[in-house]
Amino acid sequence: MKILSVNAGSSSLKFQMYEMPEEKKLISGVFERIGMDNSFYTIKFNGEKIQKEKDLKNHKEAFSILIDELKEYKVVEDLSEIKGVGHRVVQGGDYFDKSVVIDKEVKEKIKEFSCLAPLHNPAALIGIEASETVIPGAVNVAVFDTAFHQTMPIENYLYALPYEWASKYKIRRYGAHGTSHKYVSARMNEILGRTNTKLITCHIGNGASISAIKDGKCINTSMGLTPNAGLIMGTRCGDIDATIVTYMIKNYNMTAEEIENVMNKESGYLGISELSSDSRDIEDGIAKGNDKCILAQKMYVKRVVDYIAKYYVELGGCDAIVFTAGLGENSISTRREILDSLEVLGVKIDEKANNVRGEEKLITLPSSKIAAYIIPTDEELMISRDTYNLI
Ligand code: AMP
Repeated sequence: MKILSVNAGSSSLKFQMYEMPEEKKLISGVFERIGMDNSFYTIKFNGEKIQKEKDLKNHKEAFSILIDELKEYKVVEDLSEIKGVGHRVVQGGDYFDKSVVIDKEVKEKIKEFSCLAPLHNPAALIGIEASETVIPGAVNVAVFDTAFHQTMPIENYLYALPYEWASKYKIRRYGAHGTSHKYVSARMNEILGRTNTKLITCHIGNGASISAIKDGKCINTSMGLTPNAGLIMGTRCGDIDATIVTYMIKNYNMTAEEIENVMNKESGYLGISELSSDSRDIEDGIAKGNDKCILAQKMYVKRVVDYIAKYYVELGGCDAIVFTAGLGENSISTRREILDSLEVLGVKIDEKANNVRGEEKLITLPSSKIAAYIIPTDEELMISRDTYNLI
């Protein structure tokens, strides 16, 4: 059965098609700059990458071209072969604790939660509607980034604000990257050969979050009401004293929008290093003795270690720490610095094993009290699995 997995952003649309249940990836690609000048798309097929420039007015047009390409590459001969389309939806609020088949009510709810993800949820709805029009015979499934975190206990998702703010304004911790945390924790359990495990999963990419997972269920996660909580990220600050916001408004006449922009787009690695949001540039800067890059990396690592320590206590121990996403899979030095800082918990890195990028691998010594693994994430496959299972 052919399943299409779709991740629609405000001006982009990523896709992958799988043959299920074999989980064989048939084709993938991304449409970029939709609705803007110089739009283009890239297709990956049979190990080849092809880029085409094309005027893309909207997501529906991108979707139609996607279908034409599927036929061109003979991935499908007839649209009826596509039985399901899985859509990544960033915010499912406290309503969705699992993936669901999309109907009118589900779309209404996704719209309702747009206030919590104003850039992402409307884009997902556009993607869903484009899919409904272009592939009318397929079942559409919504896979929420927040759903995996719905098992958190109330003391972990509530903020110590007036209780009414949670019920009336929906203010609480929702978390994000749930599909990735779910994927890597399930894979980790597969490797360990059991499900009664205590795992700490570090999804550290441009966006970064960390989760405590007990017996396959999330009990805590570092992102909050929005993705700008917890870890230091490429351009986001993560945890700060919330009163900094009103302090800047009152004393320096900044607007709420300006502050939000700084906290989301000009902070993190970029804000501290004053150089780049990309850890590869930070690593280069460190090699050249750039003090601000050294500081940015120190702060970055420290925050991850703080969370691992906190979740270690909360879980009552830990069987494995999992690294995934851009830095988690590729930054040898970041993983080393994190694991070295955890020596006090009996963590012993295997330097040679850690010297890899993008490979599933155990990177601690047999004598390490906690194992650490690199597990490359695959959110698209997880979306396809959920879609296949619902069909
Ligand atoms: P993601 O958001 O998961 O795609 O992660 C993107 C980030 O991963 C980039 O901005 C880099 O900071 C980091 N990254 C990717 N490749 C490498 C690499 N080879 N070494 C260090 N960091 C990397």
